Amino acid sequence: METSSIGPAASTFTHDCESCRLLATVHDGGRVFDLYSCPEEGGVVARFGHEGWEYSALPLHLARTADGPIRVAAALVDGGL
Ligand SMILES: [Zn+2]
Repeated sequence: METSSIGPAASTFTHDCESCRLLATVHDGGRVFDLYSCPEEGGVVARFGHEGWEYSALPLHLARTADGPIRVAAALVDGGL
């Protein structure tokens, strides 16, 4: 997976949760994902589109063993980002 940016970059997609903190934007298999840490949900979020439903969210402990971008989000949180 290619991580194109890490840190407070601009998000690619509209995201309506005010608690979320943008971690990074990554490219995976030709798709783009905005990765967030969400204290409100106690986990991480990978958004892949502008529509309200176009995201995955998992608690941190589950995201650590998931596949794909959401696992990258967990790794970034664990790395202190
Ligand atoms: Zn959120």
